[in-house]
Amino acid sequence: MEHFIGIPQSFHSDGGGKVFEHCLVCGKYLLDGETSYVIEKAMKNYDGYEFSSTIYEYAICGNCHQELQKGMSEESVSNMQTYYQQLVASTGKQALMIDLRTFDVDKWLSKCFFTEKPVVEMKEYQLIGQFKGNKLLLNTPPMVIGEDVIDDMAGLLSDKTIDEMNGFKEQYLGPPPELEELIYGRKLIFL
Ligand SMILES: [Zn+2]
Repeated sequence: MEHFIGIPQSFHSDGGGKVFEHCLVCGKYLLDGETSYVIEKAMKNYDGYEFSSTIYEYAICGNCHQELQKGMSEESVSNMQTYYQQLVASTGKQALMIDLRTFDVDKWLSKCFFTEKPVVEMKEYQLIGQFKGNKLLLNTPPMVIGEDVIDDMAGLLSDKTIDEMNGFKEQYLGPPPELEELIYGRKLIFL
């Protein structure tokens, strides 16, 4: 069963303050209600201010996303899987509880998915979510990836994968939405 909520403001485009409408790579219209897509935003905080600014942001359709993930080497994927399993094991929480009656997306996105460190204590972090039409899907829940985890992950990627990502970055001003498959591998329980 699909669980979803409306697109929260944290996933609006910084430029126009509106939802994303087109795939960054192929230009496909994203709001027809049928198309699955991913939004990734990288955010920066400023010391002493309750203010975040966007470093980069994009929406990318499911097809283009799959193509990009093919660019990751097997070594990178396997490293990431191990890293992810260790993180999950270290929290001791095998399953993720989402109570749909009380789910508060802003609260959910106020801390790192892995370490639970609050974003206000970070210099940089990333937001990733999966969408369909004008809905944010909760089956693959949105997440904050904190700076510590980003650093760790970058260290696990092979040269080949980094080359691919740099190529994408040059072309589209941001790294590919690398790792949802692995990250979202966690078991979900909806209450
Ligand atoms: Zn596309």
